[in-house]
Amino acid sequence: MSAIEKNLQRYLEAEILLQSFFATFNYCWEKCVAPELIKNGSKPFAACCQERYHSICDLDHPAFDRLREEREQLFGKPADHTWENSVSPCEYHNPNRGCLLATHKSPICISFLCRKGIDALREEHGIYAYDYLGAYYALEWILTGDLPDSQYLEFSAGIREMTERIARSRKSIPQPSQADN
Ligand code: SF4
Ligand code: SF4
Repeated sequence: MSAIEKNLQRYLEAEILLQSFFATFNYCWEKCVAPELIKNGSKPFAACCQERYHSICDLDHPAFDRLREEREQLFGKPADHTWENSVSPCEYHNPNRGCLLATHKSPICISFLCRKGIDALREEHGIYAYDYLGAYYALEWILTGDLPDSQYLEFSAGIREMTERIARSRKSIPQPSQADN
C-alpha cells in the first residue's frame, strides 16, 4: 500500500471516530435541524453548509486528489448533482436530506462545530477539549502524512474519550420510558 493510501485509510478512520462523536452528541439534529424544521414548517435549509467547502478548503496536494477521486467514485462529481430546490451553494447538499457524503468529506466538513455547539459541549458535558480548528488541521495533516503517529494516537484517543463521556452522561439521564415505569 502506498503512503497516500495509508494516510487516506487513517483519515477515513478518523472520520468515523468524529462521526461517532457527533452522532453521540446529536446536537446538530436535536438542537438545530429538528427545531428549525418544526419552526419553518419543514422547509429545507442549509444550516452551516453555506459554502462549497470541498472546493475552497481542500488543499492542492496529491493526498487531497486521492480523497476527491474516491469521493467522486462513491458519490459522484459535484457537477453531477443539481437540485431544483437548492438551499446551499454546495452541490453535495441534498435540500431534503442534508449532506449526501456518508464518508470522504473534506476536513472542515468533518470537524466543524459552531459556537453554540461548542458551548453545549462545555455546559452540558463538561467537555472543553473540542477545538474544531485543531481537529480540522489534524485531519489535514493526517491526510498529507504530516501528523506524527504519536499525535494521531493522542488525537484519536481524545475523540474516543469525549464520545464515551457523552455516552455515559446520556445513559445517566433517565429516558422517558424508564422514568414512566
Ligand atoms: S454545527 Fe451548528 S449550525 Fe451547523 S448543523 Fe450543527 S448546530 Fe447547526
Ligand atoms: S460537503 Fe456536505 S457537509 Fe460539506 S458543505 Fe457540502 S453538504 Fe455540507
